[in-house]
Amino acid sequence: MLERHPARTRILATLGPASGSERRIEELVRAGVDAFRLNLSHGDPAERSRWVRRIRRVRRRLERPVAILADLRGPRIRLGRLPEPRRLRRGERVELRPGRAAAGGALPVDYRGLLRDLCPGQRVLLRDGRVELKVLERGDRALRCRVVRGDTIDSHQGVNLPDSEIRAPVLSARDRRDLAWAAAAGVDWLALSFVRRAADLDLLRRAAARAGLEAPVMAKIETPEALRHPEAIVAAADAVMVARGDLAVELGHEAVPLVQKDLIRICRDHAVPVVIATQMLESMVDSLQPTRAEVSDVANAVLDGADAVMLSGETAVGVDPVRAARTMDRIVRRTEARLFRGRREPPPRPGRAALSSSPIEAATVHAAIAAAREAGARAILAFTETGRTARLASSFRSGRPLVGLTADERSFHRMALYWGVRPALIRRFRTVRQMHRHAAEALARASWLRPGDLVAALTGAFSRTGATNTLRLLRLDELAGAGGGQRREP
Ligand code: PEP
Repeated sequence: MLERHPARTRILATLGPASGSERRIEELVRAGVDAFRLNLSHGDPAERSRWVRRIRRVRRRLERPVAILADLRGPRIRLGRLPEPRRLRRGERVELRPGRAAAGGALPVDYRGLLRDLCPGQRVLLRDGRVELKVLERGDRALRCRVVRGDTIDSHQGVNLPDSEIRAPVLSARDRRDLAWAAAAGVDWLALSFVRRAADLDLLRRAAARAGLEAPVMAKIETPEALRHPEAIVAAADAVMVARGDLAVELGHEAVPLVQKDLIRICRDHAVPVVIATQMLESMVDSLQPTRAEVSDVANAVLDGADAVMLSGETAVGVDPVRAARTMDRIVRRTEARLFRGRREPPPRPGRAALSSSPIEAATVHAAIAAAREAGARAILAFTETGRTARLASSFRSGRPLVGLTADERSFHRMALYWGVRPALIRRFRTVRQMHRHAAEALARASWLRPGDLVAALTGAFSRTGATNTLRLLRLDELAGAGGGQRREP
């Protein structure tokens, strides 16, 4: 049930044609993948539904927590259909028109507000920034632009407008269809691309609830607009992804390393998990080995304190997805070993923002981490409904094993994204005492904990989230006895 030495930093792998078979999914989980991303910008829903069913079978068979994340396209702008690839040369004049198909010589852009939102002097970036246009003039039906940097472009490639405030709706008609799919598939997490402000996340939550899905939401930060108020977005999110692909296009590649560090710091302060994404082992899309620079990139994300690192094309379309996952797992473990070896555990510091937003909970978790350290407890146990207590405890980055015990199967899988949390699924009983006895027995069966081991147990009002207020230091086999009498709330 619970591995003896799991890696603490999580691995999120993007599924795709190279990895969607049940055999491959199982190999990826065995290689260290904790969560799968389904990129809803690509692929067809029937295929994705098959992938979800396969992940469910694999995680049941392996009795492992594995999270399924559906990544919505959001207000991403793309070129429409071109009759054939087109080469743009420096200095050339070109027109951009809202629409899905090319009309005359103009390039179609699938955004109706194009003429309204762009002004002369602003940049339009195509094909991951390889092509740069400058807007010269806004006509009635088209934007007239000059090519500043040229290359070949093709249908449906991404369009970035880094200088403009885009007023495209947070969710497109396509996103709403994808949400209905995600609700029917019962995914564990939702991610939203191109989040611009905190209110976008509330809008997503409401739309998801209307579609019948209650899932935590991950904000993908990838525009300068989002970086104008990162604190507010992080505070409103259940997790954050530093989406370095579009971020590099919009901000310039050289800005990304420091943005990554700043976002990790803000997320840790709010106890919000943060995923570092894109091109982590990019050369493994085509090759069996990463570059030295890629290995350093993964290791530095671990050292910076990321909760998770992501594989994109490496697992979706790469030559050997399992090898890419194993490589990432090895880098993570090697780096973490150094992080904790021989280190005197520093006194825990609660995130300032987390402490002010939920002081009782954060102070109780803080006390548990400090007490576990002082008393030399073997593990910290967080009894949790939604995974929230485990998430808070995880943000302290204690080297001690942290077990997130829940009777809710969705929370069990959702916690697979939290740094250092070992999710454990326990049965729901009528009383806390019974539940704790069952938990103690299950943990003792995992063999790395013995009945006489000291543990720090965090509990709250049973069946209610956000109510953690009790810390007990006791031996594992005393857990049931000390649970004492609390009735389960209806
Ligand atoms: C990114 O831009 O880095 C990213 C993760 O987004 P996507 O893969 O959806 O383009």
